[in-house]
Amino acid sequence: MLMDSSPFWSWDESSVTYGGYCPDADLQMEDVYSAEELTWLRFCHDEHLTLAEIGKWVASIFATVWFRNRYPRVRGIAVHDGRGSPNPRGWRDDDICHMHLPRPTRHRLTILHELTHGLAFDAHGPEFCANYLALVKRFMGHDQWEDLRDNFVILRIKHRGSNDRRDRVVGASSVRLKGSS
Ligand SMILES: [Zn+2]
Repeated sequence: MLMDSSPFWSWDESSVTYGGYCPDADLQMEDVYSAEELTWLRFCHDEHLTLAEIGKWVASIFATVWFRNRYPRVRGIAVHDGRGSPNPRGWRDDDICHMHLPRPTRHRLTILHELTHGLAFDAHGPEFCANYLALVKRFMGHDQWEDLRDNFVILRIKHRGSNDRRDRVVGASSVRLKGSS
């Protein structure tokens, strides 16, 4: 069975359910891609992580108090190699965040983007963007966060919203540390 203590594991692709994506309402998608590409060029264009490195990194993210307090329902993060798929993809199934990462997309910005699809459920809307920025600031750094946020502002991308309404309502009784929101 899946356990909290093993936040990274391989997954039988045949059992995966896709979800969390609604293209009809996804008005910001192209602009988010554009903003992200500018930040990628500046900070991540020569970054090529192995799946083992990615597994270690997402496990370290999952292990933080910040992440667990903010997303109390998430039970783990699963990384798939993305073979046979031209594009990366992220979603949540049974409170596990999944991501498909084809080889060219194995850098931190895309990893956090796909992880965010498992944490916010408005496609590339304001809630997605707010959570994405928060993860970038926390797990990449202030400069990367500022660059991405500036690109969002320039492209008029809405990036404010509740952090994760679904998690917050359900997880309201869990202890939150000061400054974790
Ligand atoms: Zn996306």
